[in-house]
Amino acid sequence: MVIYTVTGKVGEAGYLDIANSGDITAKNIYVNITNRCPCSCVFCLRQTKKMMEGNSLWLKGHEPQVEEVMEIFNQYDLSVINELVFCGYGEPLERLSDVCKIIDLLKVKYPKLKVRLNTNGLANLIHNKDVTPELEGRFDTVSISLNAPDAEEFLALTRSKFGIKSFEALKEFAVLAKDHVPNVVMTVVEKVMPEEKIARCQKICDELGVKLRVRPFEN
Ligand code: SF4
Repeated sequence: MVIYTVTGKVGEAGYLDIANSGDITAKNIYVNITNRCPCSCVFCLRQTKKMMEGNSLWLKGHEPQVEEVMEIFNQYDLSVINELVFCGYGEPLERLSDVCKIIDLLKVKYPKLKVRLNTNGLANLIHNKDVTPELEGRFDTVSISLNAPDAEEFLALTRSKFGIKSFEALKEFAVLAKDHVPNVVMTVVEKVMPEEKIARCQKICDELGVKLRVRPFEN
């Protein structure tokens, strides 16, 4: 499933292919174009065999090419949607240039399209350079999963292939992104994280000058 909506129910039943989503007016439309990710988070559903075999968000066979994604989009009127969100069960910026191409093509037709990126914040390590200038004019919001209040806990949770430097890189990514994107947010999940740790995450965000969003816990 490449392009989908979320009904509010958690789990596979909550994800609907755009073809089965009915009227998309005022809905968020999600784009899922890669399974690749430098992390292996302990809580990530993509780690499970069930996900890889049966879940409709796991891209089987191949990653959809830009043309295939655009073919789907061309069947819909995106002027009525709320927000387009690049997320999925992988890190969207693994496919940085394709993400940019898709947004550029869509913005020709929909110059006011609101676009959000849900990211692990490690794109500068993935590409070994500062990619945040590429976000300018393309994304309205960048939402970065902070996950933890310090580098050790972050690494223990995400098992990032980049090791202990990942947490600093994520924070630097957030600061650099502020120069190019109007709304940079970091997220943690309530209940999963004790309040004392949420307070430390809030302090980090205050120091970086970005908002912290405490996402509701869903099970
Ligand atoms: S960063 Fe996201 S996609 Fe990657 S392993 Fe963690 S939760 Fe899964």
